[in-house]
Amino acid sequence: MNYDQFFADKVAALKAEGNYRVFADLEREAGNFPTAKNYQANGTANITVWCSNDYLGMGQNPVVMNAMHEALDKCGAGAGGTRNISGTNHYHVLLEQELAELHKKEAGLIFTSGYVANLTALSTIGQMMPDCVIISDALNHNSMIAGIKHSRSDKLIFKHNDLEDLEAKLKGVGPDRPKMIAFESVYSMDGDIAPIKEICDLADKYNALTFIDEVHAVGLYGEHGGGVAERDNLMDRLDIIQGTLAKGFGVVGGYIAGTESMCDFVRSFGDGFIFSSSMPPAVAAGALASVKYVKEHNELREKHQERAATLKKRLTDAGIPVMPSETHIVPVMVGDPVLCKQASDELLFNYSVYVQPINYPTVPRGTERLRFTPTPLHNDELMDHLVDSLVKVWSQLGLKQAA
Ligand SMILES: *Cc1c(COP(=O)(O)O)cnc(C)c1O
Repeated sequence: MNYDQFFADKVAALKAEGNYRVFADLEREAGNFPTAKNYQANGTANITVWCSNDYLGMGQNPVVMNAMHEALDKCGAGAGGTRNISGTNHYHVLLEQELAELHKKEAGLIFTSGYVANLTALSTIGQMMPDCVIISDALNHNSMIAGIKHSRSDKLIFKHNDLEDLEAKLKGVGPDRPKMIAFESVYSMDGDIAPIKEICDLADKYNALTFIDEVHAVGLYGEHGGGVAERDNLMDRLDIIQGTLAKGFGVVGGYIAGTESMCDFVRSFGDGFIFSSSMPPAVAAGALASVKYVKEHNELREKHQERAATLKKRLTDAGIPVMPSETHIVPVMVGDPVLCKQASDELLFNYSVYVQPINYPTVPRGTERLRFTPTPLHNDELMDHLVDSLVKVWSQLGLKQAA
């Protein structure tokens, strides 16, 4: 076999269907978010980032940056080991306590990313619990799917946010088998929210564990940024709350929160936790500062919601097909991978607006879209420019208008 030909052919096929990914080469500017420098073929351009998951701009918050500088100077660059072998720094311990408190749980456990948190927690629980069945929402994130696959436990997939289908699946499993319902609060590509309370009611009725991914909600919803479950007063009804430190909190890392015994179990048996070096102390210090800050600044969340609502309204008024979203996420349907990439290129190179095309496999084929994430730092002027630019690109490429 010609190995390299194999690799090249696979990539060529992606290109032919319009799903080849080109990364925007950026230099973020602290103090100037959402502006960034974009390295292009012939020099650099100043652009506005409209698709960042740094939802509140915490990645450049001076309190977070100072905490990181301080910890870096105090502790150095790396953690120096896995958590078990010399790599537990005091910042890790403080961060886990802070996260437990945020979700009103007994304990928290941090991982190097949200991806690893999902992969490790789901696979460890599913693998070790005898005869466990995992019942998973059809639109769950790849990291949850990977965890469930890796667990090798039986799995059932229920239709997205469909309580009837979920109940049918639970009923089918029967009362005696251990089972876990895995789902998200905010689904980040459509911007819809799970019926968390009703899922918890079904979990009670059929004696199932609940595992919720609040990655796109922590920092952003609830009085203290504890997520949709905090907003809806449901945190105590969820067994395992998973989150990230990389999106609303603007740093990097992931975690789970739950009972002392559950966290201790994953800490003791989870491969992705045990066999990987822990996050650098400065990262833990930055995340800790961010969680504390975000907790106390509800006005950030209010502004965030206002910006998203304003953008949805303005785009809709301009005839741009905003998808129905109940959250801070503003997806705009294009429905074709090639046109989606073209629209994104046009916006970037001619209007200095950066929004990444979202194509298969992140979303189903035929639902390719642009996904805007306005933050509290996207002001009216930036929004004026965005709306004008989109209207022009829409007409230039003959894209579908709102129905
Ligand atoms: C981004 C994401 C993750 C992974 O979190 P990272 O901290 O970025 O690894 C997990 N779940 C969902 C729903 C996500 O969108």
